[in-house]
Amino acid sequence: MPDITICPTCGSDKIKKVQRDLTREFQGQSYTVPALEFYECPNCGERLYDWEAVQKMQAYSPAFARSRRPRVRARVRVPFTSVARAAA
Ligand SMILES: [Zn+2]
Repeated sequence: MPDITICPTCGSDKIKKVQRDLTREFQGQSYTVPALEFYECPNCGERLYDWEAVQKMQAYSPAFARSRRPRVRARVRVPFTSVARAAA
């Protein structure tokens, strides 16, 4: 993504890339994305996120927590003999 120099919302050329902790909210649950880089317009408050920022936000978002959780379900080992007996 090329550098953004003009705010798409208000046309201000004061928009610039900032890096700070961003606190967002998802379904009433707030979470913080540390040291996130994004563009912010001091004139109208517009915020623009590039692809990397979006990826980072998703990594911290509770909305994506489920897919992030590793599958460590305990696997129950059934001895082959008991399986064969159950099938018989
Ligand atoms: Zn603006």
